[in-house]
Amino acid sequence: MSSSKIVGIDLGTTNSLISIVEGGQPIAIPSAEGDYLFPSVVGFSRSGERLVGSVAKRQAISNPERTIISVKRHMGTDFRFTCDEKSHSPQEISAMILQKVKADAEAYLGFPVEKAVITVPAYFNDSERQATKDAGAIAGLEVVRIINEPTASCLAYGLDKTEKQETVLVWDLGGGTFDVSVLDLGGGVFQVKATAGNNRLGGDDWDQRIMDWLVEEFKKQFQIDLRTDRVAMQRLKEASEQAKIRLSQETSTHIKLPFIAADASGPKHLDVELSRSKFQELTHDLVEKTVEPALTALEDAGMSKSEIDKVLLVGGSTRMPAIQDKVRSLFGIEPSKEIDPDKVVALGAAVQGAVLSGEVKDMVLLDVTSLSLGIETVGGVFTKLIERNTQIPVAKTRVFTTAADGQTVVEVHVLQGERELAAHNKSLGRFELRNIPPAPRGVPQIEVTFDIDVNGIVNVAAKDLATNNKQKIVIQSPTNLTQEEINAMVKDAAIYAEEDAKRRTESQARNKANIELDTAERQLRELGEQMSFEQQKRLRDAIERLRGSLQTYDTEKIKEDTKVLQDAMYAVSTEAYMSVGGEKAADAARKSGYAPTTPTRGAEGGGEAGAEGGAEEPSDQDLFGWFQQ
Ligand code: ADP
Ligand code: MG
Repeated sequence: MSSSKIVGIDLGTTNSLISIVEGGQPIAIPSAEGDYLFPSVVGFSRSGERLVGSVAKRQAISNPERTIISVKRHMGTDFRFTCDEKSHSPQEISAMILQKVKADAEAYLGFPVEKAVITVPAYFNDSERQATKDAGAIAGLEVVRIINEPTASCLAYGLDKTEKQETVLVWDLGGGTFDVSVLDLGGGVFQVKATAGNNRLGGDDWDQRIMDWLVEEFKKQFQIDLRTDRVAMQRLKEASEQAKIRLSQETSTHIKLPFIAADASGPKHLDVELSRSKFQELTHDLVEKTVEPALTALEDAGMSKSEIDKVLLVGGSTRMPAIQDKVRSLFGIEPSKEIDPDKVVALGAAVQGAVLSGEVKDMVLLDVTSLSLGIETVGGVFTKLIERNTQIPVAKTRVFTTAADGQTVVEVHVLQGERELAAHNKSLGRFELRNIPPAPRGVPQIEVTFDIDVNGIVNVAAKDLATNNKQKIVIQSPTNLTQEEINAMVKDAAIYAEEDAKRRTESQARNKANIELDTAERQLRELGEQMSFEQQKRLRDAIERLRGSLQTYDTEKIKEDTKVLQDAMYAVSTEAYMSVGGEKAADAARKSGYAPTTPTRGAEGGGEAGAEGGAEEPSDQDLFGWFQQ
């Protein structure tokens, strides 16, 4: 298979997901842990190891200072994360997630993943989109396109194929955010009419309600407050999410956490039953909170509920029956949920990838800008050049002039947003056009050109028509990264991959050393009596030596001393085998966990050592020579 394939990645607030089109159909690619969801969590263990995905999620509550969740909320800002010795930008943290997603997908697919379509919320502004693209670049991915999440969802549903005009509402309730988008579809054009939401509402809140309830129940029963125990809270959080998920299928569920606490009278176990109706009672107000953003989106789109032709359920939390009921009662139609709500965004991104790579044909897909773009003019007014909902790519030009007599410099302040005053919109950056020939105000003609590329990323140029002097910038707001910075981070990320591999080797070496130490001690215990004094001393010395090197971080020395210990053990087994002879000694040796099973195969309990030796299948004659140092 060629690597010209373009994957689709849903870089979510809570979970990320990667998908690829195979045989014309998008499929989700599982993580190394075998799950389709890659928790968007990055952690740094106390020993400095970087943890990404489910391992990081598992330590989120018990090790909060060194765990980063919901990095997506900070994309496009100058926020810095400091939980190890270095400080990291949101782009770098997102890149760590993407690196993990990429590496796992490569392992699964068996070919390199180089190009990707990444999705972002429709309301993401230029900085947020640029930051997402940069994160991809840092992770070693060529981000061929950024597309809107609701657009991706529509693509996954194949809604691009409908000839007729349709209005679709995408109801996306994830782990930490709720996004509603109203789209007009028809003839391959995806027009986001309105977006609204609550970026502090998601599945996590439902989990929290269960946790709170469990804490109270436990307190009632045992008078112990679990809130003070971080590890217990981590277990509660996991159990609460699991219970919530089960309650989407079952009408009642058992929550059991043995040894969650202890007091003078002994260990305490949490063991309760939670019914769906109790759960819904605990979370009723959360469901209600979804109504307002949905109505706002409709209002902004200038539509009534009855004009919505379809509602697509997206995001893991839409599996909750109470949410589906709410959608039904609100719109009076059955929401579409044929596609796994966890996967729909990534699947759609993969479809877009396949369109771009030419694998899927006869599909046009046109996205639109979701925010207006313009510059600041006299009096702090925001003058729009490109209105929101304009199909992209697009270029627009307008001529401006000076506001003062003899003005030789103009500042072009680029903004994005819908508000009247510049100050109320998002500033994307500014630049100056100098050396304008002095003239009365209103005379000079400065042509400003905006273009938005297919990713929604903005380029701005200004030209003095008298002199043809030109200034052009790709918008670099202060939070965006320069190409050099990205290059440096790409290098960093690559070094990290190497370090990762080194750490793996290190920990493998340490594991092996520990196993060998165990075995050697067992051999001493069980075969000690049969050993000569020299043998015993050699073994004890080798054990001491390996213990010593395990105190260091010298992997080579650990490996070397492991080998010395192995050899000492081989010698003991061999001697036992030779001196006592026959099955009895072999048996004894085997029992010790370190013995040649058959004369030609070599050491059994030696694990890898045996395998290594076995690689060059020794002849009978070589047998003992092979054991020697
Ligand atoms: P995001 O878009 O924020 O990255 P997801 O769409 O992956 O998030 O949604 C994650 C949320 O969905 C989590 O809170 C998770 O517990 C919840 N979730 C997943 N499956 C179910 C289910 N079967 N029932 C209820 N909630 C679920
Ligand atoms: Mg999502």
